[in-house]
Amino acid sequence: MSTLIDFHSHIQFSAYDNDREAVILRAREAKVKMIAVGTQAQTSEDAIRVAEQYPNDVLGASVGFHPGHASENSYHDKNELREEAQESFDIERLRELAKHPKVLAIGECGLDYYRDQRLEISERQKKVFVQQIELARELQKPLIIHCRSAFGDLINILNSKSHILNSPAGVIHFFSGTKDDAKNLLDLKFYLGFGGVITFAREYNEVIRYAPLDRILLETDAPYVAPAPHRGKRNEPAYVVEVAKKLAELKGISPETIAEQTTQNAISFFGLSVE
Ligand SMILES: [Zn+2]
Repeated sequence: MSTLIDFHSHIQFSAYDNDREAVILRAREAKVKMIAVGTQAQTSEDAIRVAEQYPNDVLGASVGFHPGHASENSYHDKNELREEAQESFDIERLRELAKHPKVLAIGECGLDYYRDQRLEISERQKKVFVQQIELARELQKPLIIHCRSAFGDLINILNSKSHILNSPAGVIHFFSGTKDDAKNLLDLKFYLGFGGVITFAREYNEVIRYAPLDRILLETDAPYVAPAPHRGKRNEPAYVVEVAKKLAELKGISPETIAEQTTQNAISFFGLSVE
């Protein structure tokens, strides 16, 4: 298979502190390149650093503030940061980070009502999200959006901001909405990201068959949600190969065509200059 791009990994997270080099070497052997995606200021800074350290493998960074961290009861995930580092959203700090030449996108940002349905939490998430939409416009970068159990509000916000969305506007990572949600988002010039979950859950099959191949990006979301046959283990960018194979099966197209097309999609989406 030709080169694949895992557009959404967290290779900078503490989950890889003991063996990051080995994980990146396995990706290289599998002909997989990756983008490092931040989730708050600290992990965004780390994403830039890892992109500087491994420029041939980590093609760039995305910086942003994940909606999970916009909540009061912000959980601490040991895979993400060794020490609990609760931050409040700071748009000035994010803007400074976003101007770094390694930064390709803004995110992950968005809405997540899965853990906490309180109105005050969703209101705070919306405010933080809108500021990041505006930053993406200001810096002419695509958005990497996280959305869980919140597609109605997400689409309302994006529609109300459609006049300031870029083209492409961004990508919905780990897309878990309906076919109608997909249609609305495609109309707003978004791409859809699919990862490991599609290898073992059938509820994504219909929307994957529906989504045009030139608007799909492949991802792992490593260290989370490893694809079959690695399910339950720590995920890593090399496993994006399994996502490509499953996509090929669902689309009835050869894995090679999937690889070529999705890599081309990532190259044009992020404005990359890779061979
Ligand atoms: Zn993620």
